[in-house]
Amino acid sequence: MNDHKRKLDDVKKYVQGIAQRNDWKLNSNHEMFNDLTEGLMINFNRLGYYNCPCRDSQEDRNLDRDIICPCQYAKPDIEEFGHCYCALYFNKNFDFTQEISMIPERRPLSK
Ligand code: SF4
Repeated sequence: MNDHKRKLDDVKKYVQGIAQRNDWKLNSNHEMFNDLTEGLMINFNRLGYYNCPCRDSQEDRNLDRDIICPCQYAKPDIEEFGHCYCALYFNKNFDFTQEISMIPERRPLSK
């Protein structure tokens, strides 16, 4: 679908740039961080865009546009709960000694 496959390092640089620009922190748990960036890489290489690694794609950039990482729900979730739905990006003041909890899905069911 696209000639420009992403490697894990490319994805890590991408998410680091997003975190920096938004003044967010990345998940400090290496296993979770690796799983999420690997999911983003697989999605990019399959679809041609960074579909959220913890939401199903409809395989159409237009229909998925609200869940292309960073999704349009990340900012309000980080403000309200301290991290995004997948727990990739965090509020810069998040205390990583506390448990990372599941948060409600903000994406409307109709999507
Ligand atoms: S929930 Fe997090 S990882 Fe998923 S698309 Fe939104 S910002 Fe990216």
